[in-house]
Amino acid sequence: MNTKYRKTIIAGNWKMNMLASDVKPFVDELKTYLPKTRSCDTVLCVPAVNICSMLKYGKEAKIICGAQDVSEHDKGAYTGDISAAQLNDIGVKYCIVGHSERRAYYAEGDLKVNAKVKKLLENKIHPIICVGESLEQREKNLTMSHINYQIRAALSGIELSELRHCVIAYEPIWAIGTGKTATSEQAQEVCCEIRAIIREMYGARPARSISILYGGSMNAKNAAELLAQPDVDGGLIGGASLKPADFAEIIKATGADNE
Ligand code: PEP
Repeated sequence: MNTKYRKTIIAGNWKMNMLASDVKPFVDELKTYLPKTRSCDTVLCVPAVNICSMLKYGKEAKIICGAQDVSEHDKGAYTGDISAAQLNDIGVKYCIVGHSERRAYYAEGDLKVNAKVKKLLENKIHPIICVGESLEQREKNLTMSHINYQIRAALSGIELSELRHCVIAYEPIWAIGTGKTATSEQAQEVCCEIRAIIREMYGARPARSISILYGGSMNAKNAAELLAQPDVDGGLIGGASLKPADFAEIIKATGADNE
Protein backbone atom coordinates (compact mmCIF):
# COMPACT_ATOMS: atom_id res chain seq x y z
CA MET A 1 0.00 0.00 0.00
CA ASN A 2 1.12 3.50 -0.58
CA THR A 3 -1.24 5.52 1.57
CA LYS A 4 0.46 8.78 0.66
CA TYR A 5 -0.88 8.72 -2.87
CA ARG A 6 -3.96 6.53 -2.80
CA LYS A 7 -6.94 5.36 -0.86
CA THR A 8 -6.87 1.99 0.87
CA ILE A 9 -10.06 0.03 0.27
CA ILE A 10 -11.23 -3.17 1.90
CA ALA A 11 -14.31 -4.38 0.04
CA GLY A 12 -16.31 -7.44 0.94
CA ASN A 13 -18.27 -9.36 -1.65
CA TRP A 14 -21.07 -11.30 -0.01
CA LYS A 15 -22.10 -12.89 -3.32
CA MET A 16 -25.46 -14.68 -2.93
CA ASN A 17 -25.16 -15.13 0.82
CA MET A 18 -26.91 -13.67 3.86
CA LEU A 19 -30.49 -12.62 4.47
CA ALA A 20 -31.61 -9.06 5.09
CA SER A 21 -32.22 -10.09 8.70
CA ASP A 22 -28.54 -11.10 9.00
CA VAL A 23 -27.28 -7.58 8.26
CA LYS A 24 -27.85 -5.94 11.64
CA PRO A 25 -26.34 -8.79 13.70
CA PHE A 26 -23.37 -8.88 11.30
CA VAL A 27 -22.72 -5.16 11.63
CA ASP A 28 -23.25 -5.20 15.40
CA GLU A 29 -20.64 -7.93 15.75
CA LEU A 30 -18.21 -6.32 13.27
CA LYS A 31 -18.40 -3.05 15.20
CA THR A 32 -17.18 -4.74 18.36
CA TYR A 33 -13.92 -5.71 16.63
CA LEU A 34 -13.19 -2.47 14.81
CA PRO A 35 -11.28 0.58 15.96
CA LYS A 36 -13.39 3.72 16.05
CA THR A 37 -11.49 5.48 13.33
CA ARG A 38 -9.95 3.94 10.28
CA SER A 39 -8.29 5.46 7.29
CA CYS A 40 -9.41 2.80 4.81
CA ASP A 41 -12.75 2.74 3.04
CA THR A 42 -14.66 -0.28 4.31
CA VAL A 43 -17.12 -1.42 1.67
CA LEU A 44 -19.58 -4.29 1.70
CA CYS A 45 -21.01 -5.30 -1.66
CA VAL A 46 -24.15 -7.10 -0.66
CA PRO A 47 -26.97 -8.80 -2.57
CA ALA A 48 -29.40 -6.26 -4.01
CA VAL A 49 -32.13 -7.27 -1.55
CA ASN A 50 -29.82 -6.49 1.39
CA ILE A 51 -28.73 -3.05 0.23
CA CYS A 52 -31.36 -1.10 2.15
CA SER A 53 -30.57 -2.96 5.39
CA MET A 54 -26.86 -2.35 4.91
CA LEU A 55 -27.44 1.33 4.21
CA LYS A 56 -29.48 1.57 7.39
CA TYR A 57 -27.35 -0.46 9.80
CA GLY A 58 -23.90 -0.07 8.27
CA LYS A 59 -23.80 3.70 8.53
CA GLU A 60 -22.85 3.91 12.19
CA ALA A 61 -20.00 1.45 11.63
CA LYS A 62 -18.82 3.54 8.65
CA ILE A 63 -19.53 0.73 6.24
CA ILE A 64 -20.00 1.98 2.72
CA CYS A 65 -22.62 0.04 0.85
CA GLY A 66 -21.76 -1.47 -2.51
CA ALA A 67 -23.62 -3.52 -5.10
CA GLN A 68 -22.43 -6.61 -6.93
CA ASP A 69 -23.68 -5.83 -10.41
CA VAL A 70 -25.53 -3.23 -12.46
CA SER A 71 -27.37 -3.10 -15.76
CA GLU A 72 -25.60 -1.68 -18.79
CA HIS A 73 -28.89 -0.02 -19.76
CA ASP A 74 -30.43 3.18 -18.45
CA LYS A 75 -33.97 1.90 -17.91
CA GLY A 76 -36.77 -0.02 -19.55
CA ALA A 77 -37.78 -3.59 -20.30
CA TYR A 78 -34.90 -5.47 -18.68
CA THR A 79 -36.67 -7.71 -16.22
CA GLY A 80 -34.62 -8.42 -13.14
CA ASP A 81 -31.98 -5.79 -13.83
CA ILE A 82 -31.11 -2.83 -11.63
CA SER A 83 -29.86 0.41 -13.13
CA ALA A 84 -26.99 2.58 -11.96
CA ALA A 85 -29.48 5.42 -11.43
CA GLN A 86 -31.53 3.18 -9.13
CA LEU A 87 -28.43 2.22 -7.16
CA ASN A 88 -27.34 5.83 -6.86
CA ASP A 89 -30.84 6.87 -5.84
CA ILE A 90 -30.75 4.72 -2.70
CA GLY A 91 -27.18 5.61 -1.75
CA VAL A 92 -24.93 2.92 -3.21
CA LYS A 93 -21.37 4.22 -3.62
CA TYR A 94 -19.43 1.30 -5.10
CA CYS A 95 -20.32 -1.51 -7.50
CA ILE A 96 -18.37 -4.57 -8.59
CA VAL A 97 -18.14 -4.95 -12.37
CA GLY A 98 -16.84 -7.86 -14.40
CA HIS A 99 -16.47 -10.31 -11.54
CA SER A 100 -15.18 -13.60 -12.95
CA GLU A 101 -18.34 -15.37 -11.78
CA ARG A 102 -20.46 -13.04 -13.87
CA ARG A 103 -18.08 -13.34 -16.79
CA ALA A 104 -18.26 -17.15 -16.54
CA TYR A 105 -21.91 -17.82 -15.65
CA TYR A 106 -23.62 -14.92 -17.44
CA ALA A 107 -21.35 -14.57 -20.46
CA GLU A 108 -20.44 -11.07 -19.43
CA GLY A 109 -17.84 -9.98 -21.97
CA ASP A 110 -15.53 -7.01 -22.03
CA LEU A 111 -17.94 -4.84 -24.04
CA LYS A 112 -20.63 -5.29 -21.43
CA VAL A 113 -18.18 -4.62 -18.64
CA ASN A 114 -17.16 -1.39 -20.34
CA ALA A 115 -20.80 -0.33 -20.78
CA LYS A 116 -21.47 -1.00 -17.10
CA VAL A 117 -18.41 1.00 -16.03
CA LYS A 118 -19.72 3.93 -18.07
CA LYS A 119 -23.21 3.73 -16.53
CA LEU A 120 -21.78 3.65 -13.03
CA LEU A 121 -19.56 6.65 -13.67
CA GLU A 122 -22.45 8.59 -15.19
CA ASN A 123 -24.31 7.92 -11.95
CA LYS A 124 -21.48 8.78 -9.57
CA ILE A 125 -20.83 5.24 -8.37
CA HIS A 126 -17.27 3.92 -8.11
CA PRO A 127 -16.83 0.84 -10.30
CA ILE A 128 -14.64 -1.89 -8.84
CA ILE A 129 -13.43 -3.39 -12.09
CA CYS A 130 -12.38 -7.03 -11.76
CA VAL A 131 -9.71 -8.53 -13.99
CA GLY A 132 -7.81 -11.76 -13.69
CA GLU A 133 -6.43 -14.75 -15.50
CA SER A 134 -7.43 -18.41 -15.43
CA LEU A 135 -5.02 -21.09 -14.29
CA GLU A 136 -4.57 -22.17 -17.88
CA GLN A 137 -3.65 -18.65 -18.94
CA ARG A 138 -1.16 -18.37 -16.08
CA GLU A 139 0.43 -21.67 -16.98
CA LYS A 140 0.74 -20.59 -20.61
CA ASN A 141 2.38 -17.36 -19.54
CA LEU A 142 -0.56 -15.32 -20.81
CA THR A 143 -1.36 -13.52 -17.56
CA MET A 144 -0.02 -10.09 -18.49
CA SER A 145 -1.41 -10.01 -22.02
CA HIS A 146 -4.83 -11.05 -20.74
CA ILE A 147 -4.81 -8.43 -17.98
CA ASN A 148 -3.64 -5.82 -20.46
CA TYR A 149 -6.54 -6.63 -22.76
CA GLN A 150 -9.13 -6.65 -19.98
CA ILE A 151 -8.01 -3.32 -18.52
CA ARG A 152 -7.92 -1.54 -21.87
CA ALA A 153 -11.33 -2.94 -22.81
CA ALA A 154 -12.95 -2.04 -19.47
CA LEU A 155 -11.59 1.51 -19.64
CA SER A 156 -12.22 2.11 -23.31
CA GLY A 157 -13.66 5.61 -23.75
CA ILE A 158 -13.19 6.49 -20.07
CA GLU A 159 -11.85 10.02 -19.66
CA LEU A 160 -9.02 10.89 -17.33
CA SER A 161 -11.45 12.85 -15.14
CA GLU A 162 -13.54 9.69 -14.74
CA LEU A 163 -10.64 7.35 -14.09
CA ARG A 164 -10.10 8.81 -10.64
CA HIS A 165 -13.45 7.34 -9.58
CA CYS A 166 -12.47 3.84 -10.74
CA VAL A 167 -10.98 1.05 -8.67
CA ILE A 168 -9.30 -1.99 -10.20
CA ALA A 169 -9.35 -5.41 -8.54
CA TYR A 170 -6.85 -8.04 -9.62
CA GLU A 171 -8.58 -11.34 -9.01
CA PRO A 172 -6.82 -14.41 -10.41
CA ILE A 173 -9.68 -16.78 -11.20
CA TRP A 174 -7.77 -19.76 -9.82
CA ALA A 175 -7.61 -18.08 -6.43
CA ILE A 176 -11.27 -17.17 -6.05
CA GLY A 177 -13.13 -19.28 -3.53
CA THR A 178 -10.48 -21.98 -3.81
CA GLY A 179 -8.43 -21.28 -0.72
CA LYS A 180 -5.46 -20.93 -3.10
CA THR A 181 -4.09 -17.44 -2.63
CA ALA A 182 -1.67 -15.81 -5.02
CA THR A 183 1.67 -15.33 -3.31
CA SER A 184 2.37 -11.77 -2.29
CA GLU A 185 4.99 -11.66 -5.07
CA GLN A 186 2.45 -12.78 -7.69
CA ALA A 187 -0.11 -10.26 -6.45
CA GLN A 188 2.47 -7.47 -6.45
CA GLU A 189 3.77 -8.38 -9.90
CA VAL A 190 0.35 -8.15 -11.54
CA CYS A 191 -0.85 -5.12 -9.57
CA CYS A 192 2.38 -3.35 -10.56
CA GLU A 193 1.75 -4.29 -14.20
CA ILE A 194 -1.82 -2.94 -13.96
CA ARG A 195 -0.40 0.36 -12.71
CA ALA A 196 2.05 0.37 -15.63
CA ILE A 197 -0.85 -0.13 -18.07
CA ILE A 198 -2.73 2.78 -16.46
CA ARG A 199 0.44 4.86 -16.73
CA GLU A 200 0.67 4.09 -20.42
CA MET A 201 -2.99 4.96 -20.96
CA TYR A 202 -3.39 8.01 -18.72
CA GLY A 203 0.05 9.12 -17.48
CA ALA A 204 2.08 8.92 -14.29
CA ARG A 205 -0.13 10.85 -11.89
CA PRO A 206 -3.35 8.91 -12.43
CA ALA A 207 -1.37 5.67 -12.28
CA ARG A 208 0.07 6.71 -8.96
CA SER A 209 -3.30 7.56 -7.50
CA ILE A 210 -5.56 4.74 -8.66
CA SER A 211 -6.36 2.11 -6.01
CA ILE A 212 -5.64 -1.44 -7.09
CA LEU A 213 -7.02 -4.25 -4.93
CA TYR A 214 -6.10 -7.89 -4.73
CA GLY A 215 -8.84 -10.51 -4.44
CA GLY A 216 -8.69 -14.28 -4.19
CA SER A 217 -8.90 -16.18 -0.91
CA MET A 218 -7.62 -13.22 1.10
CA ASN A 219 -8.17 -13.98 4.75
CA ALA A 220 -7.25 -12.93 8.27
CA LYS A 221 -3.96 -14.81 8.09
CA ASN A 222 -2.57 -13.77 4.70
CA ALA A 223 -3.98 -10.23 4.47
CA ALA A 224 -1.11 -8.40 6.15
CA GLU A 225 1.51 -9.81 3.77
CA LEU A 226 -0.58 -9.14 0.66
CA LEU A 227 -1.47 -5.63 1.79
CA ALA A 228 2.17 -4.86 2.56
CA GLN A 229 2.97 -4.98 -1.17
CA PRO A 230 3.61 -1.51 -2.60
CA ASP A 231 1.05 -1.80 -5.43
CA VAL A 232 -1.68 -3.61 -3.49
CA ASP A 233 -3.98 -0.93 -2.11
CA GLY A 234 -6.57 -3.12 -0.50
CA GLY A 235 -8.60 -6.26 -0.96
CA LEU A 236 -11.75 -7.61 -2.51
CA ILE A 237 -12.82 -10.35 -0.18
CA GLY A 238 -15.42 -13.05 -0.70
CA GLY A 239 -15.60 -15.86 1.86
CA ALA A 240 -13.83 -14.07 4.68
CA SER A 241 -16.17 -11.07 4.42
CA LEU A 242 -19.01 -13.26 5.68
CA LYS A 243 -17.37 -13.65 9.06
CA PRO A 244 -17.24 -10.43 11.09
CA ALA A 245 -14.15 -11.43 13.09
CA ASP A 246 -12.18 -12.38 9.96
CA PHE A 247 -13.30 -9.34 8.00
CA ALA A 248 -12.28 -7.12 10.91
CA GLU A 249 -8.83 -8.73 11.00
CA ILE A 250 -8.37 -7.91 7.32
CA ILE A 251 -9.40 -4.32 7.93
CA LYS A 252 -6.95 -4.10 10.80
CA ALA A 253 -4.23 -5.56 8.59
CA THR A 254 -4.28 -2.33 6.57
CA GLY A 255 -2.70 -0.82 9.65
CA ALA A 256 -5.59 1.57 9.57
CA ASP A 257 -6.34 1.35 13.29
CA ASN A 258 -6.51 4.67 14.98
CA GLU A 259 -5.49 7.33 12.55
C1 PEP B 1 -14.39 -12.74 -4.76
O1 PEP B 1 -15.42 -13.34 -4.93
O2 PEP B 1 -14.22 -11.65 -5.28
C2 PEP B 1 -13.34 -13.37 -3.92
C3 PEP B 1 -12.16 -12.84 -3.90
O3 PEP B 1 -13.72 -14.49 -3.23
P1 PEP B 1 -12.84 -15.28 -2.14
O4 PEP B 1 -12.25 -14.26 -1.23
O5 PEP B 1 -13.80 -16.17 -1.44
O6 PEP B 1 -11.80 -16.02 -2.89
